Amino acid sequence: RYESLAYDHALEIHRKHLSPVAAAYFQKPLMLHQGHMEWLFDYEGNRYLDFFSGIVTVSVGHCHPKVNAVAQKQLGRLWHTSSLFFHPPIHKYAEELSALLPEPLKVIFLVNSGSEANDLAMVMARAHSKNTDIISFRGAYHGCSPYTLGLTNISTFRMEFPSGMGCQSTMCPDVFRGPWGGSHCRDSPVQTIRKCSCAPDCCQAKDQYIEQFKDTLNTSVAKSIAGFFAEPIQGVNGIVQYPKGFLKEAFELVRERGGVCVADEVQTGFGRLGSHFWGFQTHEVLPDIVTMAKGIANGFPMAAVVTTQEIAKSLARCMLHFNTFGGNPMACAIGSAVLEVIKEEKAQENSQDVGTYMLLKFAKLREEFDIVGDVRGKGLMVGIEMVQDKMSRQPLPCEEVNQIHEDCKNMGLLVGRGGTFSQTFRIVPPMCVTKPEADFAVEVFRSALIQHMERRAK
Ligand code: PMP
Repeated sequence: RYESLAYDHALEIHRKHLSPVAAAYFQKPLMLHQGHMEWLFDYEGNRYLDFFSGIVTVSVGHCHPKVNAVAQKQLGRLWHTSSLFFHPPIHKYAEELSALLPEPLKVIFLVNSGSEANDLAMVMARAHSKNTDIISFRGAYHGCSPYTLGLTNISTFRMEFPSGMGCQSTMCPDVFRGPWGGSHCRDSPVQTIRKCSCAPDCCQAKDQYIEQFKDTLNTSVAKSIAGFFAEPIQGVNGIVQYPKGFLKEAFELVRERGGVCVADEVQTGFGRLGSHFWGFQTHEVLPDIVTMAKGIANGFPMAAVVTTQEIAKSLARCMLHFNTFGGNPMACAIGSAVLEVIKEEKAQENSQDVGTYMLLKFAKLREEFDIVGDVRGKGLMVGIEMVQDKMSRQPLPCEEVNQIHEDCKNMGLLVGRGGTFSQTFRIVPPMCVTKPEADFAVEVFRSALIQHMERRAK
């Protein structure tokens, strides 16, 4: 019955029985029927190129045949044990994942979502340091459980009552929106189309942002702290990059105060950034804890926290880590299949190759349209920030961005949104995307901008 549900009936059920907000992404919510690799099909058979990957989650492609085959095989063998029992998929996965991380990051805790992973990382940071205060960037998204809400500094997720206590925010060293820029790109908007480098060439600003970080350490937290969480590139906040060297210095300052450093790789991990498998490697830092989710299992619920033996022991002294579903046979088998596909299909190399190609093509739109304020990113994580005009850098009003977003969808391209004012388009396709598809995406986006300029001119 539900397979052939009429669209209006589905909408009614959604409004009555499911979250009304979830459907608000497009003017007319999409009802999806099927997915294949980088393509999605709606219930009427319309085809969309998926450049949002279910919020950066489908890493190797929708219903990837190899991942599906492994899932089906495991489904017929054993779905569930709890973490009380041994089963081969978990041991296979633990060896495979740990081999991808540098020493001493070799101990893996498996959970079910990014929020849960960051929850656990917060407990680890506090158990190990024996301190309370944790710092994260303004604009950061680290989850929406009551604990991680303290780390997520986006007003949409702040509540009127206390949650996530013991967390402090610090200025995000955003080279586009931050007060010190991008120094020269701030003064001269037509300059600096950043090539695919995690180090936008605006490094003078780094010292100013570090002063702000020190100010937070000196004024807003106790003398000793528990830790610092950072995404290597901010995802939900609109693909925000930091000046080169910032994280390295920040990590040193945190460690001087007894804190541990946590890299949230929920969006940046598993080769998406192209040049490296993990985002933290692009900053030349070694975190004490790494959290991962989303792309880890191509959309199957799974997440992980990877840390050192020492920190794992501190956690064990403090509490028993138990998780009914974490590390279940299905998730582990799928996780292994995803790692295999990333390797076999050279997905990381493809992120670097197609990602850089796509970034440079999108960057050309910045020269063509005054409302394209910034084009940035790395690998297959690209942000296009929309402004009223390049001089003011005021965000393009949300209704205008909504219309461009809707027009892209109507032309068969799905992209994401992000940023404080929802002003940034997030371009994060599955890692199997090709150059002709990147060309298609750029052309659709360009057409949507032309339509927009024509509407504005009327
Ligand atoms: N960290 C980051 C960087 C994220 O982007 C997200 C999800 N958007 C999370 C954590 C939370 O993940 P989940 O939705 O699986 O709880």
